[in-house]
Amino acid sequence: MTITYEYGDNLYINVTNRCPNACDFCLRNNSTGSLYADNLWYEGAEPTKEEILADLKKRDLNSYAEIVFCGYGEPACRWDDMLWLAA
Ligand code: SF4
Repeated sequence: MTITYEYGDNLYINVTNRCPNACDFCLRNNSTGSLYADNLWYEGAEPTKEEILADLKKRDLNSYAEIVFCGYGEPACRWDDMLWLAA
């Protein structure tokens, strides 16, 4: 389960696989990974906000230019958790 991964100078947080759309160009339609991480699909339940925070605490957050909420879905589906994590 890939919760966070690095790409370039940034750290990406794989927040969710949920998405209310079905864009034709979306990688979700033809791949389990992204250009930058091997597998972003959560086979079971997606991680809780506490599990995401625990994963973030393993890293030196000051070493990244940006922290990016992303995922193999629409991260705003977990808006409240994003706000909690950002705080
Ligand atoms: S994850 Fe993004 S690109 Fe893919 S279907 Fe949802 S909104 Fe579209």
